[in-house]
Amino acid sequence: MIQKTLQQITDMMDCETNSTFSNVTIEGVCIDSRKVEQGNLFIPFKGENVDGHQYVRGAIEKGAAASLWQKDVPNPPNDLPILIVDDPLVALQQLARAYREQLHIKIVGVTGSNGKTTTKDMITNLLSTQYSVQKTEGNYNNHIGLPLTILSLKQDTEVAVLEMGMSAKGEIDFLTKLARPDIAVITNIGEAHLQDLGSREAIAEAKLEITNGLHENGLIVYFGDEPLLTRSLARENRFRICTFGYSDQNTLYPVNIHQSHDGSVFSICGLDNVQFELPVLGKHNVLNALAAMLVANELDVSFESMKESLRHVELTKMRMEIIEGQKGERIINDAYNASPTSMKAAIELITYLEGFEEKIVVLGDMLELGPDEKIFHEEVGKSMNAEKIEYVFTYGPLGEHIARGALTVFPKDRVFSFRDKQKLIDQLRSVITGKEIILVKASRGMKLEEVVQSLKG
Ligand code: ATP
Ligand code: MG
Repeated sequence: MIQKTLQQITDMMDCETNSTFSNVTIEGVCIDSRKVEQGNLFIPFKGENVDGHQYVRGAIEKGAAASLWQKDVPNPPNDLPILIVDDPLVALQQLARAYREQLHIKIVGVTGSNGKTTTKDMITNLLSTQYSVQKTEGNYNNHIGLPLTILSLKQDTEVAVLEMGMSAKGEIDFLTKLARPDIAVITNIGEAHLQDLGSREAIAEAKLEITNGLHENGLIVYFGDEPLLTRSLARENRFRICTFGYSDQNTLYPVNIHQSHDGSVFSICGLDNVQFELPVLGKHNVLNALAAMLVANELDVSFESMKESLRHVELTKMRMEIIEGQKGERIINDAYNASPTSMKAAIELITYLEGFEEKIVVLGDMLELGPDEKIFHEEVGKSMNAEKIEYVFTYGPLGEHIARGALTVFPKDRVFSFRDKQKLIDQLRSVITGKEIILVKASRGMKLEEVVQSLKG
């Protein structure tokens, strides 16, 4: 993590400090006084309800070496090592930008509508055999999380894999110019954030902003089956390009994907005789793996080594997690988030899984889809295969539109719609025999993991 004297810090961001403290050394930064560690630079934010400045003294007593202080907050404590700044958030970002420039490190930036965290985890996994790698923890992917992640990078880290999230135009532009990636990845373009951006074209443009901070002669890795990306990037000559996808137009595409409830086995173009085992469910995760493999290849990791790493890849929780239910049924917990693209991908996945007598889907509202939200839900319902799926359960008011779509393909007695979670659970229990696979998926806010919890063995 960052380790500097206050004197050095004053050269990295716009601030004023009392020269008596210029030799104080800080190590790492912290924005939550409860989590302050020895030597940290404390960064107080003035929130709507709480003003972090009231914790400055406490943070320093707890071990922080110094603190920022916003200029317009009265009574700065002159007896403490503080740096006066116009805006602590801007100062945090300036400091991260300057620190990034000083690091001799390769940075991989990952954006996209779905699969950022998964791809980031996979990239880290593939690179870790050869490099010391640090990655964004959890979902620290925004204008606060990204600078914090950068400032946590150790001097001897060789590669940092950073997730870049967004909900509006301009946000990725800001993050990429801060992180200055050497390799940028766009996992896909979905419908997430349609509410804020209006169209898929606008979403694609927003994701493409990641190239604005890409180093000269850097590499962009993107989902080549997405025309909105290909259209913009195919003739690009400012940086190098690699694509992944199902079609054979891509730099890297899979051949012979075989899916089971243990995950996927696939080969790749040019290496037909090598089988890659991926212990994670879902064809879409094969795509995420291909993206990760292109990044690893760029950094000279061999396919032999990647094959070994992929076999042990571990992902963050609630993403296609497989759990055993009380009667032995298998539950796929994908209650972490949902968009039409990821929901259709997950449903398609379970229709192809072998070894189960019945397949059941429990689908809840997908939030933040904008004015066409009902149509998106109905389309998910219509897209399901009634020959492969036995029962459709929906939860929530928008879920009712999934049910409405499903009723165009399913008989009435196989579609159940609820607004009461307990009633849904009771009905679900009454149909479970123990031989099913059950997909549970909705936006995070719907808390469908409660359904998973109650079925758990
Ligand atoms: P967030 O915006 O919440 O940070 P994220 O982009 O980091 O999301 P993940 O957390 O990796 O995405 O995955 C979330 C869900 O998206 C997964 O559970 C899965 O259902 C779906 N998903 C992952 N990868 C893809 C993909 N390549 N295409 C479609 N859906 C995907
Ligand atoms: Mg994420």
